[in-house]
Amino acid sequence: MSAHCCHADTPTGKPIPPSYRRALWIALVVNFGMFLVEMIGGWGAGSASLLADAVDFFGDAANYALSLFVLSLGLAWRARTALLKGLSMGAYGLYVLVQAVWNGWHGVLPEAGTMTAIGALALIANVSVATLLYTYRGGDANMRSVWLCSRNDAIGNLAILLAAAGVFGTGSGWPDLLVAVVMAGLGLSAAQQVVRQARAELREVATQPLHSH
Ligand SMILES: [Zn+2]
Repeated sequence: MSAHCCHADTPTGKPIPPSYRRALWIALVVNFGMFLVEMIGGWGAGSASLLADAVDFFGDAANYALSLFVLSLGLAWRARTALLKGLSMGAYGLYVLVQAVWNGWHGVLPEAGTMTAIGALALIANVSVATLLYTYRGGDANMRSVWLCSRNDAIGNLAILLAAAGVFGTGSGWPDLLVAVVMAGLGLSAAQQVVRQARAELREVATQPLHSH
């Protein structure tokens, strides 16, 4: 999972073809829906790794929203939106770490069955969205970026299933916490990259106000 992997490649300044726009809308709804499902499921099942996987769905949903609404607004607004996205992802990643520590401290035993069901649903959602976007890809989208993005997301979903098996097998919450901490760490470093790039773009806009577009 990486914050910059699942962006939709839409060339700036050109209108998005209607079929691709519809595919982006579906991708946005599915990713935001899965963010909510994993967040609520993570709370309900006491699973920090489900909460951690939700950060990728949030980041991807933000990217699709960015492609649909913000790309045409120019560099300054794109950078500001990206900065907001990076900061939200970072805050959420920190929250997941705190929740993981809390769960570990209180010896919470996650529900392996719920983790397995939601992890499998997340895998199906990611593969479906990747297939959809690849089918209706617009402009510059290439097979490699779709493949890399889906592969990383699928690895995250498989890690949830592995953690669920570990929780079931050991009767302890540690496999869940281990996966949660690794995924939250990856989410935080991705958030940091997003913030750094957005700041650089904002500096660029500030120093060259007449040449930005
Ligand atoms: Zn992703």
